[in-house]
Amino acid sequence: MNKELELILKKPFFVIAGPCAIESKKQLEQTAEKIISHTDILRGGAFKPRTFPGSFEGLGEEGLKILKEIGEKFQIPTITEVMDTRDIELVAKYTDILQIGARNMQNYPLLKEAGKLKKPILLKRGLGAKIKEWLAAAEYIKKEGNLQIILCERGIRTFENETRFTLDFAGAILAKQISNLPVIIDPSHATGKKELIKPLVLASKAAGLSGVMIEAHIKPKEALCDADQALTPEEFNEIFS
Ligand code: PEP
Ligand code: MN
Repeated sequence: MNKELELILKKPFFVIAGPCAIESKKQLEQTAEKIISHTDILRGGAFKPRTFPGSFEGLGEEGLKILKEIGEKFQIPTITEVMDTRDIELVAKYTDILQIGARNMQNYPLLKEAGKLKKPILLKRGLGAKIKEWLAAAEYIKKEGNLQIILCERGIRTFENETRFTLDFAGAILAKQISNLPVIIDPSHATGKKELIKPLVLASKAAGLSGVMIEAHIKPKEALCDADQALTPEEFNEIFS
């Protein structure tokens, strides 16, 4: 792991931010430029898991190249999702942290491959996964030798539909207490609601969690993915002011 990233992950609280998907160099560059002062790690998906076929699935390797270029331009570590064991080497070549998304939390071959890497893995909790199952998924990564794991609570499915998912705040805290791993929350996917992001960031800090992951976009209304939950750079920066 590069030294700078190691220091970031040791901070009491770190912020991962960026668009849901990388759409173009201009989109990522303009977003990054405006959020950089409050962002520790730049996010952006190049391989997107989409519920409905036909939705934008990301730019693939072209997106990875853009992420690397913009990360280098702004001297900021990057994170992006890997969905398939066949892409893991490719993704690892371009990014500092690999994300295993909610839908792949129990993709055991993917977890095992991630365990062989020498880069940190952000493991999101599955939509219907128990805390024990989430921690067991992390064990699959550890067992292959990779101990650099960050857990991310991104909301689980419940009967409630006022929010996109239900953020299991107690679960996030419990996961941290049991595992001793850094645990962050993703209020963007958990709630799907811009107005809930700031209070949840403040709550996660107060609760001693390790950080947050937030979606921000230079022009949320034009976002090809998760437009409703993306903050404008101004809204994002206001959280930290
Ligand atoms: C994401 O972070 O872009 C994402 C797809 O998240 P999740 O796996 O939590 O749905
Ligand atoms: Mn998203």
